[in-house]
Amino acid sequence: MRIMISADMEGATGVTWTADVETNSPQWERFRPMFTGDVNACVAGLFAGGATDVLVNEAHSAQRNILLERLDPRARLLTGRHKPLSMMQGIDSGVDGVVFLGYHAAAGLDGVLSHTYLPNQITGVWLDGTRASEGRLNAALAAEYGVPVLLVTGDDLTCADAAGYAPSASAVAVKQCVSRYAAICKPPSVTATEIEEAAREAMALAGATTAPAPAAHRIEIEFDAAHLAAAAAVVPTVEQVDVRRVGFDAASMTAAMKAFKVVTAIASGAVEGSYG
Ligand SMILES: [Zn+2]
Repeated sequence: MRIMISADMEGATGVTWTADVETNSPQWERFRPMFTGDVNACVAGLFAGGATDVLVNEAHSAQRNILLERLDPRARLLTGRHKPLSMMQGIDSGVDGVVFLGYHAAAGLDGVLSHTYLPNQITGVWLDGTRASEGRLNAALAAEYGVPVLLVTGDDLTCADAAGYAPSASAVAVKQCVSRYAAICKPPSVTATEIEEAAREAMALAGATTAPAPAAHRIEIEFDAAHLAAAAAVVPTVEQVDVRRVGFDAASMTAAMKAFKVVTAIASGAVEGSYG
């Protein structure tokens, strides 16, 4: 039983503020062990539920957040950035289930540190006409490989979002959103127990199904400034559909996510100082 954990940081235990997840800040250093603790609780539950191999893929920012020296020795860690499938690197049709750990709500919506890939410059993403969080995009990618989403952890709004794109998956709310930068948080000793138990139970869903034939998908992305849409529209296949909005069609979800990665890279490179 091969399981993959896609581990983001905004939805980790205790995290509520930008500095909590910004590389090299003292707050980030404080939250790295707590984030690693969430991962370890999940790994423990997955093995207790029958997993035989767990790959943890770092999915936040520079993708060097988890403390390898504290990782459960049964797990393997994919750390570092510049991976073709980014948050979902490691997914293939032999994976029996995926966990979205430390996830968060979509750009443009309420939720602790809500965003979709870029911190503020993207104000909304739509997958085939439905507003999409990172979780919804990544679940669609997993589905293309026949891989079920077993468990999602994050704030309560992340769990509500997961109910929409992965209704069979378990969910653990490690905090209750009060605002984009405030939450009522459970301590790590409590969330560890909840995550471990949910991961163990969620293993009942594990087991790859036959991957369906790749289907065409459309992604539209809205930015907070016109020049970002114009910059992204330089990419072949990407069209500007409104002043701040681009869209593209792709033959598969894998191709769509690679194109999405290009669009976000170009747009973030075009951000200008305080005017965005
Ligand atoms: Zn994220």
